[in-house]
Amino acid sequence: MNLFDSIQLPAATGPELVDPFGRSITYLRVSVTDRCDFRCVYCMSEEMQFLPKRDLLTLEELDRLASAFIDRGVRRLRLTGGEPLVRKNIMHLVRSLSRHLKTGALEELTLTTNGSQLARHAAELADCGVRRLNVSLDTLDGDKFREITRWGDLARVLEGIRAAQAAGIKIKINAVALKSFNEAELSDMLRWAHGEGMDMTFIETMPLGEIEEDRTDRYLPLSTVRARLADEFTLRDIPYKTGGPARYVEVAETGGRLGFITPMTHNFCESCNRVRVTCTGTLYMCLGQEDAADLRSVMRASESDGLLHAAIDEAIRRKPKGHDFIIDRATRRPAVARHMSVTGG
Ligand code: SAM
Ligand code: SF4
Repeated sequence: MNLFDSIQLPAATGPELVDPFGRSITYLRVSVTDRCDFRCVYCMSEEMQFLPKRDLLTLEELDRLASAFIDRGVRRLRLTGGEPLVRKNIMHLVRSLSRHLKTGALEELTLTTNGSQLARHAAELADCGVRRLNVSLDTLDGDKFREITRWGDLARVLEGIRAAQAAGIKIKINAVALKSFNEAELSDMLRWAHGEGMDMTFIETMPLGEIEEDRTDRYLPLSTVRARLADEFTLRDIPYKTGGPARYVEVAETGGRLGFITPMTHNFCESCNRVRVTCTGTLYMCLGQEDAADLRSVMRASESDGLLHAAIDEAIRRKPKGHDFIIDRATRRPAVARHMSVTGG
């Protein structure tokens, strides 16, 4: 019997999810593991303490949870982590969730990945209906790649990207803009990505979780990046949206799209349509706030989804207006103690 044969789509139990500020929640990010085969310096400390495996939701529970949100109007689902493709049997979950694409309940099923395991999963992801992937890549220099990821191999990631493209999956490259690390390389990366038919997005580093270094030393505002790129390229604002927080421009010289995710310099919370669930079933209504709801215990308390839906409703009523990220030398501690790999990027 297939692992998921016993799972039924829950009957529609309630209305769509709308928060107190009138924002419809149509986008769910699920962190399927807090583990990763890289240790990116801005994301994790070298000696990360990972959660005990017994605390993790099973794949069946992850499916049940995501399906409950889909039942309440979530149209886009992104699996992330940690590194989603290092979770054991992750393709069972992707395959199972793909049933919601077939019914039309879900518009998009996608992943954010570091690309290290993509070569072996690309064809099956495409077969499950995954049409787009975000691949995180901060440099095209193999030595610098090793430095920033501590453990990563650039050639493997590039091989993964090629495999995904060959399988017909559209790739967007996400790069965190880092002062004195990749700032001189960003325009070359942009040319490369667009030359390979991929969109590109730059991200500002966010104060999430304790790491070895001082984030102030790495923080590069995207307003500066954009001003520098504008010396070299013609950037035209476009209304393109992918459901995420990026604002896009079209680059006349390359014909490609470039996104800016600017949690620090431009607060994008007013149009937030997202919530996030961790691999332990904790629902975070905002990436940048501590308030959360424990959905694991309500799921385990009852086989039917009534309690779960009630807990989701109660949590959405508490979704905050926005985050209060600050990176400066006076504010030594991260705004939020948990790492990005816990909540999921
Ligand atoms: N492992 C996968 C990956 O790297 O794509 C998915 C999880 S990772 C946490 C998701 C994204 O978050 C990556 O693009 C990563 O660069 C970004 N990220 C991690 N820590 C960050 C931070 N402190 N500030 C901004 N972006 C961060
Ligand atoms: Fe792993 Fe992604 Fe964090 Fe890098 S950014 S350590 S690849 S979870």
